[in-house]
Amino acid sequence: MTKKELEKTTKDLSFKRESLASKPMDEVIFNYAEDYKNFIDQSKTEREAVIYACEVLKDKGYKAFNFGDKLEKGGKYYFNNRFKSLCAFRIGNDLSNGVKLVGAHIDSPRLDIKQNPLYEKENFAYLKTHYYGGIRKYQWTTIPLALHGVVVKKDGAKAEVKIGEDLSDPVLCITDLLPHLAQDQSQKTLATAFTGEGLNLLLGSDSISEDADKGVKLNVLKLLNQKYGITETDFLSAELCAVPAGKSRDLGLDRSMISGYGHDDRVCAYPALTAFLDSEKSTDTCICLLADKEETGSDGVTGSQCSILYDLIDEICEYFGVNKNKVKMNSTCLSADVTAAYDPLYSEVYEKNNATYLNGGVALCKYTGSRGKGGTSDASCELVGKVRSLFESNGIVWQMGELGKVDQGGGGTIAKYVANHNIDTIDVGVPVLSMHSPLEVISKKDLYETYKAFKCFYLSK
Ligand code: MN
Ligand code: MN
Repeated sequence: MTKKELEKTTKDLSFKRESLASKPMDEVIFNYAEDYKNFIDQSKTEREAVIYACEVLKDKGYKAFNFGDKLEKGGKYYFNNRFKSLCAFRIGNDLSNGVKLVGAHIDSPRLDIKQNPLYEKENFAYLKTHYYGGIRKYQWTTIPLALHGVVVKKDGAKAEVKIGEDLSDPVLCITDLLPHLAQDQSQKTLATAFTGEGLNLLLGSDSISEDADKGVKLNVLKLLNQKYGITETDFLSAELCAVPAGKSRDLGLDRSMISGYGHDDRVCAYPALTAFLDSEKSTDTCICLLADKEETGSDGVTGSQCSILYDLIDEICEYFGVNKNKVKMNSTCLSADVTAAYDPLYSEVYEKNNATYLNGGVALCKYTGSRGKGGTSDASCELVGKVRSLFESNGIVWQMGELGKVDQGGGGTIAKYVANHNIDTIDVGVPVLSMHSPLEVISKKDLYETYKAFKCFYLSK
């Protein structure tokens, strides 16, 4: 074999990873990333993300839908599920083709505030927290935290709380030991050194009066009452959480990346929503699902295990007299969720041939789960083939991978819950570094490639 023949044979027969790293970052990608940053800065909780999405959808002529409402072919609707999850949809010409669904989640790991959270200890006021989703507890100490959420008062009135985002706002934090006195703590393992009950938010240190018992706590209550009209009892019917304070930022001198809180999974939710809005030419029924509770197992009325999405599909089918089982059988879902990007600093947990890479383009996962593929829907090779061919014919740079080394750990997405309803589903999303930390990292090029991928899926025949 000549050298030239060998080169050709290698090129023809071997798999070569694509990369966006050396492709120039154009203005379109840069501007899309700016809009995305604006979205995540405004949408740090699922409620805030739903409000953002509803406003955009209303602006674009989508109508609020409720079960029992009239529908029409070509109609544009959204279903706001309790302000915590959302389903935007358009009715196509021929429902029997099935629906095209892109489903992302809009909840992120954080520190929820307990229902009876407020206490004073030795002249400090604290809030007790109960972490939400998978966090590495040490990462949440000694960083500025903001308080977001809703308090429902006895009369049903809601107070919207947001403290710590405006630069003039105070912030909260969880303290940690100084190294000088951390001898004993440093001997512990990462898993035991920080406990859930130890994650208490520092809330105040100024007493209301020198005569007061628990005067610091009372002072904080007075301030909360002045600002929000709430009392200590109202915490019982509140959903408050602490999230990293401040805005997302360009990362790297080349501004190729974005650091911020909650890329998982808003970095897929934003491309899902914008691709949905930019694919109105599609004559098929298209759905964009923004789900809640993925980080805690997709349970409950706003999680993807709830029947609401399928009730909605059934209702659409019944309304137009189409067989709902056939529609679901012919439907496809891209479960839009992030993947663990290969991190050269921690290479030992990844299997390089089957990892996903930052700047490697939109990432496909045939399966998630843990150990022997436990807890995954495992997309069929026929579906992978279909999506692969779609991406390739649209010039999308994509990659395929799994979480990490086989016995290293595991994870899941909403894919299996959608697939359990007889809808072909595959995981597609953006690779993330430092996933679930207060400062996650993504690549702008991957973000835009994911938008392009979702858009060509909605527009595909
Ligand atoms: Mn996720
Ligand atoms: Mn997650």
